[in-house]
Amino acid sequence: MSAAPRLYLSPPHMGSREQALVGEVFASNWIAPIGPMIDAFEAGLARTTGIDHVVALSSGTAGLHLALRMIGIGPGDEVWGSTMTFVGGVAPILYMGVTPVFLDIEADGYLLDLDLLESALAAAAQKPRVVITTDLYGHVTDARRMRALADRFGFVWISDAAEAVGAYRDGVHAGKGADFAILSFNGNKIITTSGGGALASDNSEAIAQARFLATQAREPAPHYEHKTYGYNYRLSNVCAAIGVGQLEVLADRVAARRAIFEAYRARLGDVPGIRFVGEPDGMAANRWLTTIAIDPDAAGFDRVAAQEELERENIESRPLWKPMHLQPVFRGAQAIGGDQAARAFELGLCLPSGSAMGAGDIDRVSDIVRSLAR
Ligand SMILES: *Cc1c(COP(=O)(O)O)cnc(C)c1O
Repeated sequence: MSAAPRLYLSPPHMGSREQALVGEVFASNWIAPIGPMIDAFEAGLARTTGIDHVVALSSGTAGLHLALRMIGIGPGDEVWGSTMTFVGGVAPILYMGVTPVFLDIEADGYLLDLDLLESALAAAAQKPRVVITTDLYGHVTDARRMRALADRFGFVWISDAAEAVGAYRDGVHAGKGADFAILSFNGNKIITTSGGGALASDNSEAIAQARFLATQAREPAPHYEHKTYGYNYRLSNVCAAIGVGQLEVLADRVAARRAIFEAYRARLGDVPGIRFVGEPDGMAANRWLTTIAIDPDAAGFDRVAAQEELERENIESRPLWKPMHLQPVFRGAQAIGGDQAARAFELGLCLPSGSAMGAGDIDRVSDIVRSLAR
């Protein structure tokens, strides 16, 4: 076991103001799921994303649940989504009593394959009510094409942009143009509120309704009156203060993650069998995590050996998300497409990508990976 300090995959990276902003919350005693920091965080998120209305929530998963509740899906409806995602981006479909249909990702990429989606939509006897795209590792779905598909086939488009805060395509922020966008500020994301998320939409009524449902569906009355049931999903004003500070440094964090990706590529791009995922024209990914694909036949080692060797040197790395159609909880769910996602999972490894990493850290990781190559 190495004595070198542990290198984590994606640890929190506070700026200079978060602690003082939390101090302001204590000084004003707004220790509640309402308050001025919530308002400032929501306004800042709307400014950053260009999405008109935002409600801050306890998690990104809560945001997806609220969107699905408002759309009103239930047993018999179809919800389609990318198989290559984190479980928080699909579990709320199960909360609604619906089993998702999973679609494959594009070749040499991370995103839902829109050619596959289009042909599956055209062929489907029963069209989906909802399609969820996932902006994986900060890559961004083609919004113009998705919007056109949603309008043509009449589904609600939910953009899971949980990993894509600060990422753009064709100058437009991830999630803009969708009917709903999900954001996450979990502890490992590019900016964090320790735990938290948001639901965003250009539809003001939908966000007002989400805010209502996230606050236990309390009717405006002097007593507690409920015509429907809701959830306790609001973010606390304390956590929102952290978010306000983190938004101020978001552009720096994106620049740092992009530089980390380029530094890894410069050090490992020439190793036979190691491949990096490039950006299509017009995309400015946030490179939340740098991932590599290791082809064991060409490299002489596989991702399991790499993860084990890094762990021996006290460095955290992780396989890519395991595709949902291969998860035991979704056994029997319909899967459309080929094996791109399965292959990405089989070959892929996420390298430490925290925005506070230095060049020495990147050297340390790269040298270990390189040492495995024949
Ligand atoms: C993190 C994440 C979520 C869930 O966000 P939480 O805030 O952790 O609930 C959903 N989808 C994807 C793709 C994620 O990475």
